[in-house]
Amino acid sequence: MRRRLILLGPPGSGKGTIAARLQQEFGIHHISSGHLLRREVEEGSTVGQRARLFLEKGELVPDGTVLTFMRGWMKSAPLESGFMLDGFPRTLNQGKALDVWLAERGAPVEAVILYACDLKIILDRITGRWSCPKCGRVYHVYSVPPKVAGICDDCRIELTQRADDREPVVRRRFGIYARQTKPLAKYYEHQGKLTVVDAALSPDERFAKTVAALN
Ligand code: ADP
Repeated sequence: MRRRLILLGPPGSGKGTIAARLQQEFGIHHISSGHLLRREVEEGSTVGQRARLFLEKGELVPDGTVLTFMRGWMKSAPLESGFMLDGFPRTLNQGKALDVWLAERGAPVEAVILYACDLKIILDRITGRWSCPKCGRVYHVYSVPPKVAGICDDCRIELTQRADDREPVVRRRFGIYARQTKPLAKYYEHQGKLTVVDAALSPDERFAKTVAALN
């Protein structure tokens, strides 16, 4: 099985869900740059202070900051049991830097899965997504609604929406993805590593196609 992976796709294409399952079933380590950056913002670290406004506006954190930050994480990425990168690289420049880091360790990326998805599906998925500020449980107005609208089933407090999950911001994130991140698909296609999976399929189908691509 190929175990050094990149998951590509627009925001809301379901990369995180697939990654969680791959980690659980095959022990491949999930590295989400968005999650790591949001944690820095919450902690108010230097990186977090530099990144905060970009995250809130749904814009890319500049390469200088992201590259230094992710290089640190990649130093400890497990090469044998494997890792999957979700949200990084997001620009051609980041992709090239990653290739250099991994070449230094003689362990190149083995497969890249692109979850292709159009804007309409993404808007439905993301703008309906709400979570509990206390326990982190994620709900969806259509697919996973709470028992009482807007209230966490467990904590009984009001659900909140990620600042960058509001519709205008989602549209902007999608545009940025199309311009800056999509060119990476060609880059990996030329390397013979790319598989495209339709992100509109059910979670089980997406997972099965992903596993098939890794074997
Ligand atoms: P999504 O994939 O749903 O857009 P992420 O959780 O991957 O969300 O990322 C959230 C935000 O974190 C991005 O909008 C961006 O501001 C920042 N970010 C994450 N990864 C990167 C990256 N590789 N380069 C630049 N900014 C990033």
